Amino acid sequence: MKQIGIIGGMSWESSAMYYRLINSYVKQRLGGLHSARILLNSVDFAEISQWQHENNWDALTRAMVQAAKQLEVGGADGVAIATNTMHKVAPEVEKALNIPLLHIADATASVCERGGINKAALTGTRFTMEQAFYTERLQGYGITVLTPDMAGRQVIHDIIYNELCKGETRASSKEIYQQIIEQMAADGAQAVILGCTEIGMLIKSGDVSIPVLDTTEIHCESIVDFMLG
Ligand code: GLU
Repeated sequence: MKQIGIIGGMSWESSAMYYRLINSYVKQRLGGLHSARILLNSVDFAEISQWQHENNWDALTRAMVQAAKQLEVGGADGVAIATNTMHKVAPEVEKALNIPLLHIADATASVCERGGINKAALTGTRFTMEQAFYTERLQGYGITVLTPDMAGRQVIHDIIYNELCKGETRASSKEIYQQIIEQMAADGAQAVILGCTEIGMLIKSGDVSIPVLDTTEIHCESIVDFMLG
């Protein structure tokens, strides 16, 4: 089994899900007492979130590159960044490493391809929904990406930082997400990508009328595929 290095803490709520999911997929595949060989490098999200909102992507690049290199030096065979948003600096992280970076959007696009989904709704932080690093990566696979309107993007973003990343799930916020996703379904989305690793805390399969693609689950599956070859 290869050892995966995870850059986590963004937020730790979703990193805890990564830990549980990767171990449970390894157990499903290998059985017995098998568990996952994981190195976790967990950062302080207060600092990360502040730099994001100050648009200080240089500081964020340095932090992610440093965290990734620490994992490589520690013996990791590959690195995963356990958040969609921080994939904005994935190219710089990839360049700094001699081991593979397992990109969350590539894993998600592969699932869309396998499911014949070529028009997908995207929910996530404003960075993820509005910037090219994520939407263009998906478009590169031939996927048309629908995002909510400005007001919808803002409320989705605020719920992520003010509630989900603090471990809070509110029924009222779930309803808001459901309404926004249903609007994009009405506009022709065949599935919704939960493009933020905490949204799975709020929205599950069956909560909306279209299939739900949870990037946390998808990323963890691709990590286990890498680990077990
Ligand atoms: N975990 C979230 C994501 O997948 C948001 C937190 C962050 O900004 O990294 O984008």
